[in-house]
Amino acid sequence: MDGRPRAPVDLDVAVVGAGFAGLYMLHRLRGLGLRARVFERGPDVGGTWFWNTYPGARCDIESVDYCYSFSPDLLAEWRWTERYATQPEILSYLRHVARRFGLRRDIEFGTRVTALRYDEPGNRWLVSTAGGDEIYARHCVLAVGNLSSVNPPAFPDLERFGGEWHHTAQWPGGGADLAGKRVGIVGTGSTAIQALPQIARQAERVYVFQRTPNYSMPAQNRPLPPGELDEVIQGYRERRRAAEESDPGIPVAPPQRSALQVPAQERRRMYEQGWQRGGINALSYAFTDYFTDERANFTAQEFAREKIRGIVRDPAVAQMLCPTHHIGTKRTCVDIGYFETYNLPGYFETYNLPHVELIDVRSSPISGVTPGGLATASGEYGLDVIVFAVGFDAITGALLDIDIRGRGGQTLAARWAGGPRTLLGLCASGFPNLFMITGPGSPGVLSNMVVSIEQHVDWISDCLAYLEARGLDRIEASAKAESDWVRHVNELADATLYPQAPTSWYVGANIPGKPRVFMPYIGGCGRYRREAGEIAERGYTGFALGTASADATALARVCSGGNLPPTGRSSAAAGPGR
Ligand code: FAD
Ligand code: NAP
Repeated sequence: MDGRPRAPVDLDVAVVGAGFAGLYMLHRLRGLGLRARVFERGPDVGGTWFWNTYPGARCDIESVDYCYSFSPDLLAEWRWTERYATQPEILSYLRHVARRFGLRRDIEFGTRVTALRYDEPGNRWLVSTAGGDEIYARHCVLAVGNLSSVNPPAFPDLERFGGEWHHTAQWPGGGADLAGKRVGIVGTGSTAIQALPQIARQAERVYVFQRTPNYSMPAQNRPLPPGELDEVIQGYRERRRAAEESDPGIPVAPPQRSALQVPAQERRRMYEQGWQRGGINALSYAFTDYFTDERANFTAQEFAREKIRGIVRDPAVAQMLCPTHHIGTKRTCVDIGYFETYNLPGYFETYNLPHVELIDVRSSPISGVTPGGLATASGEYGLDVIVFAVGFDAITGALLDIDIRGRGGQTLAARWAGGPRTLLGLCASGFPNLFMITGPGSPGVLSNMVVSIEQHVDWISDCLAYLEARGLDRIEASAKAESDWVRHVNELADATLYPQAPTSWYVGANIPGKPRVFMPYIGGCGRYRREAGEIAERGYTGFALGTASADATALARVCSGGNLPPTGRSSAAAGPGR
């Protein structure tokens, strides 16, 4: 330090977002003795689990894995009741976490962050909110979520509609009254696949407007007996370590054999076993080449299509529901009663219900909204309620919704015009002291996100502690290391079938004009954790560290070469299963 006074700040760290990521970040920052505050546009904690209250919403990673592991006491006291927890249960959990760790007193609710500007001479960020407040912080952490920026329904004549309409991620607080109504649901992604069976139980008639069919694995949901939960908690350390070291962030053993090396009968047996076990990795963890070899992938596709044909009684409807893309390359869905019910009380095989009709809007797209419903080239459908399950501007949407300006006034939007560029999905060159949690270029959305969130929060916390301990106040990803990382991420993706998926939000294809770039890191949670850990252990190679008040070139330590591991590992073959 050169002894010159630092520019004044209100906070050491400003955190944006109060979902799983922002809550844990705040807890860790407090533990470091830093002055931190969270800014959340919503009125409560929970993020995803606050906003997505549509009927049927629940996690698709087992509850006991889709939760924090940082506090043994928290683990021991929370009682998950089902294999896959419902949205209300997950929201209660996050409210409990906020209460238990006294987090609310440092969260500003109803506060949307609109702009972040790096004040270069002061080496601080100016945080601007929609309410006109301005706060200076030494560091910023963006915990804004990968699936939090809503993709609005793109129908200009929507205001003509005489009934009600809802986006699933903006579902009305008190619920929507669907009883006895004619309901149209647009979309057949994970959200619609969860919502439809529940909507069909209430509505008089349901039209499903499908553009692209999706693969869906049976959840095989069930109550979680207390004894089983206790056993899981007892062995939790090991279970979590296995999840952290795995590719998808869940405790699964990696597959050993190629799908093409086993006889057809044995392959089928293994797929059937996975199907009976259920869950997001039902088929993807049977064989090593599921994500990398078209022929291997085809065997799993065919198995899933056969299941659909076996469940849905009308062959024409079954055919329409059969996806054709490489399985797993678009986000695989998990359902309860969309296809099969497994005799769960109160569930039906939805497409066998006489009041549910599937409309193909690939061959005959929705041409517009009318006062009475939705029109396609082949007819008009009279509706009282339209449910738009049309997804999100994923991964980059919430980041770019904020006007972020870094060194030299450059905007993040301009820097990412050709697609996002980060080092580790954590930091971007040109934007000192700014961190993203599960940003593009990290395993984030391909993994159990809570495992990835905990790892990122821990990495950022350790990094800030490192800086503090050395009197350093500035960290920035070098342009060279960032480019190396982007190349590494692309090379891993290009060795798989993922980039070939049509209309996938993984590549931004669901948003018109968005650059088509495969955004997540596909090497798996375990490998990523090791790579990020090595960078930290070597003193943050690839980052420039220093004090802003001194001559940057004298103090900055930029290690650009040799910090990244060799690319193109063959075990990308056993890529994450989401
Ligand atoms: P979020 O929970 O999205 O929280 C981000 C918060 O930031 C939000 O509250 C938002 O209001 C706030 N925010 C954003 N921008 C601003 C701003 N400019 N100013 C102020 N506040 C802002 N992942 C899994 O691994 N397993 C699952 O089973 C699973 N199920 C899902 C189900 C649904 C319906 C959806 C939509 C996603 C699901 N996901 C799942 C992904 C899920 O988003 C993550 O698991 C996790 O909840 C993300 O937590 P987060 O804190 O990073 O982001
Ligand atoms: P999504 O996967 O992006 O699906 C959106 C759907 O809307 C797609 O079927 C899309 O069709 C369709 N669509 C969009 N615009 C349309 C139009 N104009 N006409 C007709 N159809 C249109 O979004 P999502 O279902 O909300 O899921 C997003 C992600 O959130 C998931 O992938 C998952 O990661 C997470 N999630 C998880 C769960 C869970 O099970 N725990 C539940 C919900 C969400 P095309 O495919 O043709 O574009």
